[in-house]
Amino acid sequence: MPDQYDVVVVGSVNADLVVGVDRRPAPGETVLGSDLATHPGGKGANQAVAAARLGGRVGIVGRIGDDGHGALLRGALAGAGVDLAHLAVTPGPTGVALITVGPDGDNSIIVSPGANARLTPDDVAAARDMIAAAAVVTFQLEVPMPAIEAAARAAASAGARVVLNLSPTAPVPAEVLALCDPLVVNEHEAAWLLGGPGEPERMARALLRSGPRSAVITLGADGVVVADAEATATIPSPKVEAVDTTGAGDAFTAALCLRLARGDALPDAARYATRVGAAAVRKPGAQTSYPTPGDLPD
Ligand code: ADP
Repeated sequence: MPDQYDVVVVGSVNADLVVGVDRRPAPGETVLGSDLATHPGGKGANQAVAAARLGGRVGIVGRIGDDGHGALLRGALAGAGVDLAHLAVTPGPTGVALITVGPDGDNSIIVSPGANARLTPDDVAAARDMIAAAAVVTFQLEVPMPAIEAAARAAASAGARVVLNLSPTAPVPAEVLALCDPLVVNEHEAAWLLGGPGEPERMARALLRSGPRSAVITLGADGVVVADAEATATIPSPKVEAVDTTGAGDAFTAALCLRLARGDALPDAARYATRVGAAAVRKPGAQTSYPTPGDLPD
């Protein structure tokens, strides 16, 4: 029987609260900022929306609060066509990211996990049928590790492919790492895992030796390195004018998962995903910048 979902995302759903500032306040100080902008975000929700906008059949397993931010985020996911049967509601606040943007476009971010911190292995058990009906199940690390471990196990035992985006960095149990096909990290996350920076293809091979079945390191404008047991390859990114790189990594990972779900080999899926990441940096915001297939650069 064909899989009902291309991609099921087990992950975070946050409201991004963004204020522009000339400079950040020192302790005890108050500064004035720009008008508040509220955007749908969270790595899990970003990936779900990105994959759905590309035409994927996508479900999400996550938690929002019973506040206005939860309603906003539910609307954004529903608008993209994501299946919300396992987006549960926790009494209390939805996760938020408090973001200040400085005059050079530099971000400082505080994440308050809110309902995301309440995602449990029981939530994963309740979503067992959705996970079992997925070609690819993907995680990031903005929800608690016990839920990720339970989901990785459920995915593997149902024969789904497991993709982990190790962001933000946190230790991952060896059992989960061994299921990742691929482990996806950016250069900073790779350096954190390996204890220091290095030449990207060497880093990708070192990551592979640390346990996953395959590894992908994203290199921003320089594209990606992919490594599996057979080969290591560097794939360039299309040249585009970058306006805002927020959420580019989430768009890349979502597209990678979608193409793997549709049967692409890892290098082909990564080549497609660099076009999606590149499209996402051409527009401001995260979910607002995500392309449909017709928006992709060559
Ligand atoms: P993260 O956002 O997780 O730090 P990267 O910055 O490495 O991840 O970006 C993820 C992917 O998005 C890259 O592999 C690339 O395909 C695309 N991308 C990011 N920045 C650019 C850019 N300036 N020009 C073209 N593509 C980009």
